[in-house]
Amino acid sequence: MGAGLGNGEVLLGALPPKPGERAMTKPSVAIIGAGMAGLTLARRLSATARVTVFDKSRGTGGRLATRRTETTAFDHGAQYFTIRDSRFHTALEPYLEAGQVQAWAAALMRIGADGASERLADRAPRFVGVPAMTALPKALAEGLDLRLGCQILALQKTGDGWHLATKDRTFGPFDRVVATAPAPQTRQLMPFAAADLEALDGVRMNGCFTLMLTLKEGTLPPAEAAQVEHPVISWIAANHGKPDRDTAPALVVHANNRWADQHLEAPLETVRDSMMAACRTLCADFDWDAVLAIDIHRWRYANVETPLGQPFLLDNGLGLAACGDWCVGNRVEAAFLSATALADVMEPQLAKGC
Ligand SMILES: Cc1cc2nc3c(=O)[nH]c(=O)nc-3n(C[C@H](O)[C@H](O)[C@H](O)COP(=O)(O)OP(=O)(O)OC[C@H]3O[C@@H](n4cnc5c(N)ncnc54)[C@H](O)[C@@H]3O)c2cc1C
Repeated sequence: MGAGLGNGEVLLGALPPKPGERAMTKPSVAIIGAGMAGLTLARRLSATARVTVFDKSRGTGGRLATRRTETTAFDHGAQYFTIRDSRFHTALEPYLEAGQVQAWAAALMRIGADGASERLADRAPRFVGVPAMTALPKALAEGLDLRLGCQILALQKTGDGWHLATKDRTFGPFDRVVATAPAPQTRQLMPFAAADLEALDGVRMNGCFTLMLTLKEGTLPPAEAAQVEHPVISWIAANHGKPDRDTAPALVVHANNRWADQHLEAPLETVRDSMMAACRTLCADFDWDAVLAIDIHRWRYANVETPLGQPFLLDNGLGLAACGDWCVGNRVEAAFLSATALADVMEPQLAKGC
């Protein structure tokens, strides 16, 4: 459907109503954000509503992200995800069968602040998108009406519904609008009632920095994957060791969330140098001269420290809702579960045409 399709308009190509049958167009829903939550919700609601998904990025996935260079690629957001809930497993089954999601059987280490390391027991299988983390959101987005590169700046309600403004145009009207942006961005954008805004104020998200290091061909990484207990660094992983990565050796290094929050406004060069210095101390035996290129990414809202504590926000009177990892947890699976819980409530409402 076209995003500008009005609420009462008839879809092009739709069959005329039979005698005695009331012409009824499906309700329209705008979803802000094409990450795991937005895509999950869009797929669920597409049977009962005309759904349009907006994302400010040029690609889908949000924090399920991959950065490509000439020689290699980095999953620079989520490193892996678990599939603990049976509904998540069912939803991912087609992609597991197609090989777009595969288990990542890396030996997980723990590296202490003194550089000492030990092997950690595997608690739950780790899964990744194949051949890159973005393979999963790309597959989930198939067939959806996506508006990428569209940052929604404001919402306005008029007599015919909600209108969404970007810097150069307006989309709408929509019967319902759902935000799946990180909580502070949802708080800024969505004109929820006071109680919901107050609930959003209670959500705490942490920032993160990701170092992306391209290594010389043949370099052995300091670890396949390592949780790091250090004031500056929290994670090191060899991206090229994930399944079906036909790419040059590459390391992904995440900052410690608390340290990142304290340095969110610092120049990226300063952050990069501090993280590199910490890496050199932590993995003193690694040949750091094998690093050919260094890139860095700043995540203003990476992880959830204090979730909302309820699966979603929904104001039926206003026609507004919000979901995302920040409602229930701190992981990809939480984003799925939040969107699924909201879909469970919205789907029957939309099926009734409201
Ligand atoms: C560095 C890092 C490491 C992580 N590691 C793991 C891990 O190992 N395992 C795990 O399970 N999880 C991990 N996570 C968390 C995981 O990535 C998230 O929980 C999950 O991807 C959140 O999905 P979401 O759909 O709720 O939000 P997002 O993926 O953030 O999607 C929100 C989308 O909204 C868009 N958006 C925001 N504002 C607007 C606007 N105004 N207009 C239009 N679009 C907008 C954004 O561009 C984004 O695409 C990590 C995250 C980061 C950043």
